[in-house]
Amino acid sequence: MEEWNEDVLAEARRYLSDLVAFEGSRFIVPKEVVAEEPVVAASVAQEGVDTETKRVETGVDLEGFRQQICECTRCRLGATRQQFVFGSGNPSAEIIFIGEAPGAEEDRQGKPFVGAAGQLLTKIIEAMGLGRDEVYICNILKCRPPNNRDPQPDEIEECEPYLKRQIAMIQPRVICTLGRFAAQTLLQSSESMGRLRERLHKYEGIPLVATYHPAALLRNPQWKRPTWEDIKRVRELYDGVKL
Ligand code: URA
Repeated sequence: MEEWNEDVLAEARRYLSDLVAFEGSRFIVPKEVVAEEPVVAASVAQEGVDTETKRVETGVDLEGFRQQICECTRCRLGATRQQFVFGSGNPSAEIIFIGEAPGAEEDRQGKPFVGAAGQLLTKIIEAMGLGRDEVYICNILKCRPPNNRDPQPDEIEECEPYLKRQIAMIQPRVICTLGRFAAQTLLQSSESMGRLRERLHKYEGIPLVATYHPAALLRNPQWKRPTWEDIKRVRELYDGVKL
């Protein structure tokens, strides 16, 4: 009986924390009690970016959302991570790059794509004529899988709602997935990277371009040319101008 109560309590706790994380305090506090929140400039502390945020219905901005979920222990990775890697860049970005999961360096610094693959991603973004602080960068998983092993299905299931919410808050014009894993997860597909690259997709109604992971490009430089073709497509979708 006692055990059953603990289970119910744990489930209820998780349900309520999800409500607050995804719906904001308005969900559990009657509307008339919650004063209209002012539109605040979101300051993404990790990158020092200070850009006006796109307001969302709940009144919670991206930084507020990060604060709500950054202590997450919904899956086993919460016990082994050093830092929760939420994402970085412009909270009003028109382009989101989505990778797989933080690696060792990202886990140490609490920022996505800051290791060797990240340096290549920075160069790719710069080659598009943009800076890292103009786009948004994040991952499917917010915590590092030990020894960089593949993310497990239950970890994805717990973490993907966070990404969905980030995308809904940022409202980008285009999503660019980096690597097979991110593309297969978001598109719920088991097709190869080569096949996924062949066409334009949509995620939650937003155009999605699937390209190779920068770490794969470091190992297979012959994929840089096709990646550049994909990146030009991202840029085209971003500004409607053919390069
Ligand atoms: N690889 C990823 O997929 N994401 C990172 O943040 C770093 C390396």
